[in-house]
Amino acid sequence: RPIILWFRRDLRLGDHNALTAACATGRPVIPLFIDDEVASGQGAAARMRLGMSVRALADDLAALGSRLILRHGNALEVILNVISQTGADAVYWSRQYDVTAKARDTAVKSALKDDGIDAQSFAGHLLFEPWTVETKTGGFYKVFTPMWKTVRGRELAAPLPAPEQILGPNDWPASDNLDDWHMGAAMHRGGDIVAGHCTVGEAAARDRSDEFIAERVADYKAKRDIPGVQGTSGLSENLTYGEISPLVCWHAGWRALHDGKSDAEVFLKELVWREFAYHLSHHTPRIESENWKQDWDGFAWNTDETSPEVIAWKQGRTGIPFVDAAMREMYVTGTMHNRGRMIVASYLTKHLLCHWKIGLDWFADCLIDWDPASNAMGWQWSAGSGPDATPYFRVFNPVTQLDKFDKNRTYATRWIAEGEDDPSDTALSYFDAIPKAWGLSASDAYPEPVVPVDVGRKRALDAYQSRDF
Ligand code: FAD
Repeated sequence: RPIILWFRRDLRLGDHNALTAACATGRPVIPLFIDDEVASGQGAAARMRLGMSVRALADDLAALGSRLILRHGNALEVILNVISQTGADAVYWSRQYDVTAKARDTAVKSALKDDGIDAQSFAGHLLFEPWTVETKTGGFYKVFTPMWKTVRGRELAAPLPAPEQILGPNDWPASDNLDDWHMGAAMHRGGDIVAGHCTVGEAAARDRSDEFIAERVADYKAKRDIPGVQGTSGLSENLTYGEISPLVCWHAGWRALHDGKSDAEVFLKELVWREFAYHLSHHTPRIESENWKQDWDGFAWNTDETSPEVIAWKQGRTGIPFVDAAMREMYVTGTMHNRGRMIVASYLTKHLLCHWKIGLDWFADCLIDWDPASNAMGWQWSAGSGPDATPYFRVFNPVTQLDKFDKNRTYATRWIAEGEDDPSDTALSYFDAIPKAWGLSASDAYPEPVVPVDVGRKRALDAYQSRDF
């Protein structure tokens, strides 16, 4: 009897524990992707990018003589339907750890087990399962560095090869047509522009990792903070859909370290930040929607999405070049440099005193590398309300940060056209990517700061001081 392989954020064939286990049984495997509430509840860019990843996986499966069955609807109902059509009696999948997916998976597993179906979940989205990393006194890590020290030296198994063959059933169940799902439909802006910046699928993800390790990891420590150069791996886009496993990245990093590229250690550390985020989501699910430090609950954040400050921030028109460049980068490419993320998040939550959830939601709508755990941790870290967060009184100065990390204004001029005699093509592409309704043009004057840096900083510090932390 066939086994259903339910693909979700593990859209690859290599280093796939659940797929390897299914193939090892010698039974037919039915690969299934369900466009359920979790998949369709994603933001516009993430959903568009997910569709691209699903297509790449379908092609890879077809190359092995298999198929990806596509179904839309409630996950449990779809699985039961496929079971009834195929006689499958087992369902395998890779675990997820964010709040929404975990709630769904728990319900699906228990309902399937009640029906006598062999429902099994496997590791694969993380290096370390959240329950395998504990502090000396028990419990999970709330601070990053000790967690890093605990896991750094752990021996991890070698990544699994992709199966050479995936046995299919004699009769395949019906599948939807991916085009009919219109997964890019919510991009009421330059979807094609963003799509042009995507690096999609397992083979491309592996090439990206190889190229990073060969060409850039040796200088990672110094260059990873410079938004004007390509100093990082770009792999978040692939890791989030599981087009590459973190284990493959981890081993590549270790090999580079053994080859004398000492900066690879910093890369390994960043991979563990991703783990830290997921462990926090697993152990304290409220991090995705509520202040992790509850003493922030009474703080009077601005929650008005229609306020001019919020609109200016979203549109990349705050008059603060580092903030605007980063927001525009996100609009055009679907990603944003990590330093940019820290700067725009600090400016929104501190200078503008806006609730971090406004930023969290906007990123979720605009990022192709949206990741529920890293996004939540990043926003709470920036706002000061999260674990191991930047102290609330530390207010990044986006002007001095630009002087430090973009000395020659490479990044700023790449993304800001207004006021330039000869604006760059990338800066102009922002005006093609944004909704027409914003009514912005490259010939507009560059705006005055919506809140000047020193005014915003003082206002934030005054507001914090009036609170009893
Ligand atoms: P590299 O520097 O090459 O790092 C390698 C990998 O390590 C990344 O791909 C990523 O998986 C992981 N990583 C690196 N930095 C972090 C970090 N600070 N936190 C968690 N994991 C990290 N990352 C996302 O993947 N999705 C998000 O939705 C997301 N939202 C963020 C929101 C805010 C406010 C902030 C401050 C950070 C956010 N990050 C998010 C983390 C980080 O900015 C990105 O992971 C990074 O910019 C991705 O670029 P890269 O792949 O080139 O990273």
